[in-house]
Amino acid sequence: MRKSIQRVERTKHYDLAICCAYCGTKVVTAGDEDLAVHPCPHTLFVAHDEGFEYISPLAAEQLRQRGLTVEFGEDGFVQINANDGEVPGTDALTDSFSFPDAFKIAAYVAPPGGMGSYVGFAPNVDG
Ligand SMILES: [Zn+2]
Repeated sequence: MRKSIQRVERTKHYDLAICCAYCGTKVVTAGDEDLAVHPCPHTLFVAHDEGFEYISPLAAEQLRQRGLTVEFGEDGFVQINANDGEVPGTDALTDSFSFPDAFKIAAYVAPPGGMGSYVGFAPNVDG
């Protein structure tokens, strides 16, 4: 059984909406102007190079098992810190999750923007 997260990259159509392949929910809307995040029950995380917008309880637990702290701010922003050392970059960090049949869409804005956004899904995030 494959457990490591699978990657799908977008480098040209990075601004299209991202929908869950398991239930069809439009989790991230298209375009940059009114970016909205609507996590469905299969959403593991919604993140970008500056941090996490959303993380599921089980995904947060995997980070805690690696010695990272996961805290939720009042504005809903997720704060991840390392007890010692540095927190890996968001792209590497989200590559390291391990759930059966999980996948991640990595969308990279063309240079000079270069910003990446990352949305992960798994069919059963409750175990
Ligand atoms: Zn879903």
